[in-house]
Amino acid sequence: MPEGDTVFQTAARLRAALAGKTLTRCDVRVPRYATVDLTGSMVDEVLSRGKHLFIRVAAGASIHSHLKMDGSWQTGRVRAGAHAVRIILETSDTRAVGVDLGVLEVLDRAHDLDAVAHLGPDLLGEDWSAPRAAANLTADPDRPLVEALLDQRVMAGVGNVYANELCFVFGQLPTAPVQRLPDPQRLAAQARNMLWSNRLRTNRTTTGDTRRGRELWVYGRGGQPCRRCGTLVETDRHDARVTFWCPSCQR
Ligand SMILES: [Zn+2]
Repeated sequence: MPEGDTVFQTAARLRAALAGKTLTRCDVRVPRYATVDLTGSMVDEVLSRGKHLFIRVAAGASIHSHLKMDGSWQTGRVRAGAHAVRIILETSDTRAVGVDLGVLEVLDRAHDLDAVAHLGPDLLGEDWSAPRAAANLTADPDRPLVEALLDQRVMAGVGNVYANELCFVFGQLPTAPVQRLPDPQRLAAQARNMLWSNRLRTNRTTTGDTRRGRELWVYGRGGQPCRRCGTLVETDRHDARVTFWCPSCQR
């Protein structure tokens, strides 16, 4: 599951590759949109909202995609089998290929953002509001913290890495009810700071240390000593989601 900063970077990369250029090829390999051909149209803008991407084209169309679990947009050399390719966009000098996208649809540009109307404040967007995110976060007092953090209707952009790291930083178990948070707005603000400071980085860090193997507090560190207290980090798998926590620092 990608984090909002990954999607933000993908949008920036696609913008650099496509914006202001005319499409010389548009090959949509999703049955429902297979007949859509935007060849000859100019790409106006590329934007991200939470984990959603929009490629807006002058013809009045907007290509909406979501990476979901394993999706990616690749420019340059493509590392994927033909069966995984969902869309190919080419200009005279660039190519962007959507691989394994969880969502791919071609929308009417005038209403494309309806597809993300359900999202909470975008952590990397102009609509960001910590008070609103905090109110959403605590709307259901008994809800487990990690679950609320991952709910894109609460705030848009947190994936499993940030959800686990935020629980650690605030000393809360991932399963703790959100009502335990002494200051939900501070957590929302910290979530924004984490994503914002990583939005242009390729090596994501929440510890402030970008050296290899030191970037994160607990995520991916099951069985390793906590960076703060030395207790072994615990891990648990629930459906497709893995959680990590320090049993001493998080109570
Ligand atoms: Zn610890």
